[in-house]
Amino acid sequence: MKLFYKRIRVDAETLRFYAECPICGKKQYGARIPLICRNVRTLARCADGRANKLSQSAFNHAKVKATQQLALRFNQCRHCYQWVCDDCYDNTDALGACRDCFQKNER
Ligand SMILES: [Zn+2]
Ligand SMILES: [Zn+2]
Repeated sequence: MKLFYKRIRVDAETLRFYAECPICGKKQYGARIPLICRNVRTLARCADGRANKLSQSAFNHAKVKATQQLALRFNQCRHCYQWVCDDCYDNTDALGACRDCFQKNER
C-alpha cells in the first residue's frame, strides 16, 4: 500500500487524485482535492509536502482516502510489484501477475 501511495498524483484540471496504470497508461480518478488546497500555489506546495499545516493535513488525509479507493481498482503484481489496472492483470497466474510478467512466464 505504501508503494501505491507514492504513485498517487494530483490532477489540476479535474482537481482529483488519480493513479495511472504503468502498462496501458489508463488513468483512474479518485477522491477530490480538498477545497482549501485548490489554489494553484497551495496545491503545488501540498504535492511537495510544504504547505501550511491546515492545508497539508487536509491534503494528506484526502490522499490516504484516494489511495484506499484507488487500490481497489488496481492490482499489485507479485512478480515485479508494480500496480496495474484490472485490464493489465492476469488472475490465472498462481500468484497474480501483470501482463508484462505473464507474457514473460509463458515463454
Ligand atoms: Zn492497464
Ligand atoms: Zn509484473
